[in-house]
Amino acid sequence: MKVGTATAQRGQKVTGVIQVPPGMDAGTDIPVAVVHGARPGLVLAIVAGAHGTEYASIIALEKLIGLIEPSQLSGTLIVIPLVNLASFEQTIVHVNPVDGKNMNRMYPGNPNGTQTERASYLITKQVIEQSDHLIDLHGGDIDESLRPYSYWTKTGNEKQDAVSRDMALAFGLDHIIVSTDRPTDPSQSRYLENTATTRGKPSLTAEAGHTGTVEADEVDALIEGCLSVMRYLKMLPGRPAFIENPVWINQVLSVTGGETGIFYPLVKRGAYVEKGMKIGYVTDYVGRTIFEARAPGSGVVLYVRGVPSVTKGGTIANIGVVAAQPAR
Ligand SMILES: [Zn+2]
Repeated sequence: MKVGTATAQRGQKVTGVIQVPPGMDAGTDIPVAVVHGARPGLVLAIVAGAHGTEYASIIALEKLIGLIEPSQLSGTLIVIPLVNLASFEQTIVHVNPVDGKNMNRMYPGNPNGTQTERASYLITKQVIEQSDHLIDLHGGDIDESLRPYSYWTKTGNEKQDAVSRDMALAFGLDHIIVSTDRPTDPSQSRYLENTATTRGKPSLTAEAGHTGTVEADEVDALIEGCLSVMRYLKMLPGRPAFIENPVWINQVLSVTGGETGIFYPLVKRGAYVEKGMKIGYVTDYVGRTIFEARAPGSGVVLYVRGVPSVTKGGTIANIGVVAAQPAR
């Protein structure tokens, strides 16, 4: 099994880099670990750090590399803990500062594009195309106070969707967003997970961590989630820990800021709110209230803005509307 410069024989754990060559802008080396199990089995890719300041997910995968030994593994694990190195190194939120692009919106990428597009192209070719399944880890960014959740992507392919659903349940986070609005064209997949699902590979995205913190419970939830999915996929011995009766979210309502100024939240991540409830307000720089943010529907605060600065039209919160029935 070869990913970038990492070539692992059966029974080996090898690290290397995916070399993104220079093009119209600078090149970069994206670190990768390949654990080629002692026994045959599925190939699972686990990726984090498309957003290089979503730290809990990045640290979770740094730890996971050390936890998985080839002797206990069936199949192959590909771990990319930090896609967006420039974001991490320069503490820049949401985008790759080299080209200003979001590293989870440019898939399947372009070998002749900017750095983000070239990196996305190589990840599609070297990681997605070689894998049977993918887990993409995210979290609240520095400006997002987020409660943990995962996504179940429903494509309409019943067999694939059943496996993806099991993977989300095995991951174990207790709030699951049912995602039905992703592009269906593999050549316009945009998101990393969607690049896998549009190629017929059951996959999931999970988020934990918030506002620049690396809290042990959130890092552990991500690590345990990956290990449980690996047990479900028969890559590790033992039984997966399926979450029972999770909260299914079938709609996400975005609350955007009406004015530029200073944001004061009135709710915390994970709070349940009623439609019309005041969830925060914005003042000008001398303390006059210029905007009140109200919940556009009832549901759970998936994340709320975690820093005081806000711009007109910027996201203040995402509210998850709870499904009336368990999602099938
Ligand atoms: Zn992210």
